[in-house]
Amino acid sequence: MALSIPNGGHISYGKLELGGTAGAVRGLDVQYFSFDEEMMNIDVDSTKLKVEKLAKSNKTPKLAIFGASVFLFPHPVKELESFFKSYGTVVMYDSAHVLGLIAGNRFQDPLREGAEVVTGSTHKTLPGPQGGIVLSWARYADQLKKAAFPSNLSNHHLHSVAGKAVVFNEMLAYGKDYASQIIENAHEFAVQLAANGFKVLGEKAGYTKSHQVIIDISEYGGGGKLEKLLEQANIIVNRNMIHDDIKAGRHFDNPGGLRFGVQELTRLGMVKEDMRIIADYIRDLIIKHKDPSIIANEVRQMRNRFRTVKYTFDEQGAYSYYKLRNSSIV
Ligand SMILES: *Cc1c(COP(=O)(O)O)cnc(C)c1O
Repeated sequence: MALSIPNGGHISYGKLELGGTAGAVRGLDVQYFSFDEEMMNIDVDSTKLKVEKLAKSNKTPKLAIFGASVFLFPHPVKELESFFKSYGTVVMYDSAHVLGLIAGNRFQDPLREGAEVVTGSTHKTLPGPQGGIVLSWARYADQLKKAAFPSNLSNHHLHSVAGKAVVFNEMLAYGKDYASQIIENAHEFAVQLAANGFKVLGEKAGYTKSHQVIIDISEYGGGGKLEKLLEQANIIVNRNMIHDDIKAGRHFDNPGGLRFGVQELTRLGMVKEDMRIIADYIRDLIIKHKDPSIIANEVRQMRNRFRTVKYTFDEQGAYSYYKLRNSSIV
């Protein structure tokens, strides 16, 4: 059991019909959590009813995967873990997107809330080299090792181990500050987009408590078209499926949503005031139909003020060229 893709689920837990890894590669039967689209979160009560029904027809889920790719609010792990465990369902949490917010202690604490296994990416809100991570308890160590090797991989990527050690240390030192600023920026960005006339999802729950902001742009021509328009203006975003897309006949190539993440802007030192400027660029492009080449120039100028990586031991130029070998040494 996991979230469906239009409700934020990742392709790795998609059904066979959608080419999802769980269905198409692993041959698993995937059931969806019930979702409350106003609160943009898993619906606890109707998920319980659904599981009770599945159990009656001998289809009790073996694995419940919390976590998502559209992930605005902490998931109800605490509220559902003992319920799932009473059915023998293993509780897992996919922290790919939010691992840095968890490291900064600003989102939720899934292992201690009852998840038995937490997976994550080392390159999303955790600002490190690309990689995957599995966190669990000693009692699962042997099973996890067997699941990793040989069934999923054979090689650990040694070239990025030192980089990961550095980023984990940076997060111990600056993770709280970094995660707090990310969440503050995302919230401000959502507020400014809403003030500019956009339909920002999750309004009833305060728009966001993560690094992400989602807007419904179906009335402006769809995510595929607007993603390209924004790119012409030097603004890189992700088109995204939203709750109503399938019912409305929209697909992934031009879905109803755009997804923003402010973690990278925050790492370069942007704060709340900068979020308003960016929300205005987006309004100027999508609602006011300003020429993207004009905005592209403004974006370039604005970005020139942010050329240093923050939340590090040694603040460095983000775009400097580091000579590894002095050419005078032969
Ligand atoms: C990005 C993502 C993944 C995959 O992570 P990679 O480390 O980038 O391969 C898995 N789950 C979710 C929810 C994601 O958003």
